[in-house]
Amino acid sequence: MTSSVPSGPSDFQGKHVTVAGLGVSGVPAAKVLHARGAIVTVVNDGDDARAREQAAELEALGITVRLGDGETLPEGTELIVTAPGWKPDKPLFLAAGKAGVPVWGDVELAWRLRGPDAAPWLAVTGTNGKTTTVQMLASILKAAGLRTAAVGNIGVSLLDAVLGEEPYDVLAVELSSYQLHWAPSLRAHSAVVLNLAPDHLDWHGSMEAYARDKGRVYEGNQVACVYNVADKATEDLVREADVEEGCRAVGFTLGTPGPSQLGVVDGILVDRAFVENRQKNAQELAEVSDVDPPAPHNIANALAAAALARAFGVPASAVRDGLRAFRPDAHRIAHVADIDGVAYVDDSKATNTHAAEASLASYEPIVWIAGGLAKGATFDELVARSAKRLRGAVLIGADRALIRDALARHAPEVPVVDLDRTDTGAMLQAVTEAKRLAQPGDTVLLAPACASMDMFTNYNQRGDAFAAAVRELGA
Ligand code: ADP
Repeated sequence: MTSSVPSGPSDFQGKHVTVAGLGVSGVPAAKVLHARGAIVTVVNDGDDARAREQAAELEALGITVRLGDGETLPEGTELIVTAPGWKPDKPLFLAAGKAGVPVWGDVELAWRLRGPDAAPWLAVTGTNGKTTTVQMLASILKAAGLRTAAVGNIGVSLLDAVLGEEPYDVLAVELSSYQLHWAPSLRAHSAVVLNLAPDHLDWHGSMEAYARDKGRVYEGNQVACVYNVADKATEDLVREADVEEGCRAVGFTLGTPGPSQLGVVDGILVDRAFVENRQKNAQELAEVSDVDPPAPHNIANALAAAALARAFGVPASAVRDGLRAFRPDAHRIAHVADIDGVAYVDDSKATNTHAAEASLASYEPIVWIAGGLAKGATFDELVARSAKRLRGAVLIGADRALIRDALARHAPEVPVVDLDRTDTGAMLQAVTEAKRLAQPGDTVLLAPACASMDMFTNYNQRGDAFAAAVRELGA
């Protein structure tokens, strides 16, 4: 796959740049471009109190802001810098295409603004596991004594990492499919696509387009394109990528690794890619028990992080030390409490069916708490594959009927409690019902497979409500 590198200025002095979208990426982008002499106009669809506040801040600097119209291309625009979430089929971009105006996302902007001695990027994308893997990777790089940061959705913002005072040796960069869509000239040192499952298809238009955008992460890689042996689609993307000469395809697997792979042998994470004579040799990296939590999908994340670190030349001992030092973020398979021999686990971040499937594969037997906003997902595959592990299910949220119907089709023997309430007390009742269904040795698992916004502000609040309910029952 060859993607054409978009044109656009390298010197912004006097250039008319339109920044599409206020917010997390738009405000800093507008400021940086203005500081470099660009004539900046920010356009934004919304016109609410928050937008006005941000607009006032930018206008005070001399930046033009147009609120309530993110569709019309401002006259004279030579470049658009867009918020990553803006859909490619918006009239603004269609007009830009007609006028031959290049469009960059926040990642493309950061990539272009890097200095000549900038730190190389180790890039992580995939449907699930990005944040965890990037954090594991940063932890490993730090253990090797490198100056680094986990950059992207969490922690340091890309622009800050690239333009800030802090000197880095290497960056561990999380990239979403939206960001990759708008970052055609990005060239990482090495990159991984962790897995590919349908997500955000309304934005990308099709699974093919979504995969194509994820696959951009491999374009121009210098040392290694890391793929998931269990997910052939990721390997196909490597094959299609146009990479630097000498760049290798490196697989990770939960099984015994072949040459040019990292894998697991007798509870040990093993490298058969970055060793001398990989036909014969293998290097022990860490033990499965060094990974927190040691659930299968998380071991996969650890192997992916290890592969990128090893591609960067990190010694095996740093992989072990970095994994030991790593602690997962809240609401990602977080063990909340044991009550009467039953474990209560919060994986509120499992907001799609692919994530929930990984979560459900980590325990048995399970009382499953699920439901919320389905975002167009279907649940038959998830339920069919997980049915044998289920002791029972407690369903909450707006689209719970979809899960209830899938359970009726594929697991009619599993008892289901359907909670028809969305008030703040609903989670306490859900956990109470789950406790009633559970037997000693079981796990009560919040892995909703849905977004949370029908009942909660976000997945954090949903996870907090679960943990609070568990503590109340345990008290
Ligand atoms: P992302 O940043 O891609 O959203 P996170 O690391 O925040 O990923 O994990 C989100 C959720 O996805 C976790 O709570 C877990 O349920 C699930 N998950 C994590 N890693 C994987 C993986 N490798 N495969 C499938 N699901 C995963």
